[in-house]
Amino acid sequence: MPLTLEQLNAASASDALQLLDGVYEHSPWIAQAALAQRPFASLPQLKFVLTQAVSAASREALLGLIRAHPELAGKAMVNQSLTAESTNEQNRAGLTHCSAEEFARLQQLNADYKAKFGWPFILAVRGPRGLGLDRAEIIASFERRLHGHPDFELQECLRNIHRIAEIRLNDKFGFRPALGDLVWDWQEQLSQYSEAPDQLTVTYLTEAHRACAAFIQAQMQVCGFDSVNIDAMGNVVGRYEAMTAGRQTLLTGSHYDTVRNGGKYDGRLGIFVPMACVRELHRAGQRLPFAIEVVAFAEEEGQRFKATFLGSGALTGDFNPAWLEQCDADGISMRAAMHQAGLCPDDITRLQRDPTQYLGFVEVHIEQGPVLNALNLPLGVVTSINASARYTGEVTGTACHAGTTPMDQRADAACAVAEFMLACERRAAQDGDSVATVGQLNVPNGSINVVPGQCQFSLDLRAPGNAQRDALQSDLLAALADICTQRKLSYCITEAMRASAAPSTPQWQQRWEDAVASLGLPVHRMPSGAGHDAMKLHEVMPQAMLFVRGQNAGISHNPLESTTSDDMQLAVEAFGHLLEQLSRQT
Ligand SMILES: [Zn+2]
Repeated sequence: MPLTLEQLNAASASDALQLLDGVYEHSPWIAQAALAQRPFASLPQLKFVLTQAVSAASREALLGLIRAHPELAGKAMVNQSLTAESTNEQNRAGLTHCSAEEFARLQQLNADYKAKFGWPFILAVRGPRGLGLDRAEIIASFERRLHGHPDFELQECLRNIHRIAEIRLNDKFGFRPALGDLVWDWQEQLSQYSEAPDQLTVTYLTEAHRACAAFIQAQMQVCGFDSVNIDAMGNVVGRYEAMTAGRQTLLTGSHYDTVRNGGKYDGRLGIFVPMACVRELHRAGQRLPFAIEVVAFAEEEGQRFKATFLGSGALTGDFNPAWLEQCDADGISMRAAMHQAGLCPDDITRLQRDPTQYLGFVEVHIEQGPVLNALNLPLGVVTSINASARYTGEVTGTACHAGTTPMDQRADAACAVAEFMLACERRAAQDGDSVATVGQLNVPNGSINVVPGQCQFSLDLRAPGNAQRDALQSDLLAALADICTQRKLSYCITEAMRASAAPSTPQWQQRWEDAVASLGLPVHRMPSGAGHDAMKLHEVMPQAMLFVRGQNAGISHNPLESTTSDDMQLAVEAFGHLLEQLSRQT
């Protein structure tokens, strides 16, 4: 019989400890600390409280926890002295069936890893979907993490231990994240369509892109949407009508295009989470007092043509017909690409939505950063999509002989930019939630034996509000002026881009907060450092976003982007809760 929360909440201290036995390998102190916080309202809450017990422990205790784990395919597996839980996990990952070559590679990696870090390599080998990683994936993770810094790697081991514990708890409680699995599987299936072999690249209106649209359209039909069509921009639009005609519509969705060599979840998660909710409503024969419109936006990333947010921009009436004449790298114009895809550019202006027909826009998105992962939190509520500004700059000094020019007689342009970069780092850190990045740095015609006479650089600034961004910007421009004056250099700096913040509408942000709290999870509020489709819709209607934790320290725009089906399940449940709230309120 699976364990229930009621049983766990009602059990004596020693019985409860026994009930959680084996969740954290040979480390009952974790369950003991967590159980002091009974009763638990939900399984996600229990999981989170367990992670907090670990976070509160000393470094010694953490190392003890990590060292309590067996090596992967190590001696304990060979002589069958693993715990029942570890045996099950290593079996499912096929580690008991390694080829001689794989086994030798794993032993070498175990030895190298132990020598570098002093503890065994920990990987949740049942993976993000719980089915088991394959041996090649395990070896690739092992090789990658061997290069990490020990402080980072210690935390990565703990995060993997929490994931192992999550799956063990699911087994104990007989819980399967069925809707999370469905959403995870949709993304896996969608990722088969790509323009490039061995990587995920889906750019606007390529064959792979159109195959994605067809896949999403077909799945929406299976879910039970009342209408599904591909519009003149290539957006896939599914509508699930309200219980009575003439009611307003909740708009939601995200993009299905990707960057080159991108991840499987960026954008797509925000399409599939509401699709799973509509599927459940349809299966239950339920209608809400408002309609739901899920839009899979055709383009957000600006990869093929020099225009971004084409999909969501079409809904806000922001489409510039001049873009149609732009050509991609192969000289194919957007107009030609659209004709080839059977789309009629003349119809784009008709896609503009009347905001009075809509309640608002909500978007679920993978976080694309390390914050939630580091906090052991599956969900975060977005407070604002950051304001940004971009610049290109150049400092000019004097190029001269690196051997003969004394240090006090130089006009080194690169040193000035280096000093400016450190000033950016300090100033942005002061705000806590501002960021400043010099991502490009170039010494034209630089040479190993020449003092840099010129240095070109880029500057990217972001902050949750326009005023905060403007203050950051004026301080940094002043710092650049100071540095150049003191170093007797000249400079120029030009603004290349500027976008206003899109703060979440308080009432809508509150709905996400209530949804997260209803799952028994703490509400974590955070700005979005990246731009999203919600930014466009913000121009015409209220909006708010929900973030889902990414694995691998939240890496994104990268094939390592990952999130678990458990986290996706929570996103679906949070979305369902938001629909319930709206049903009561409209
Ligand atoms: Zn995205």
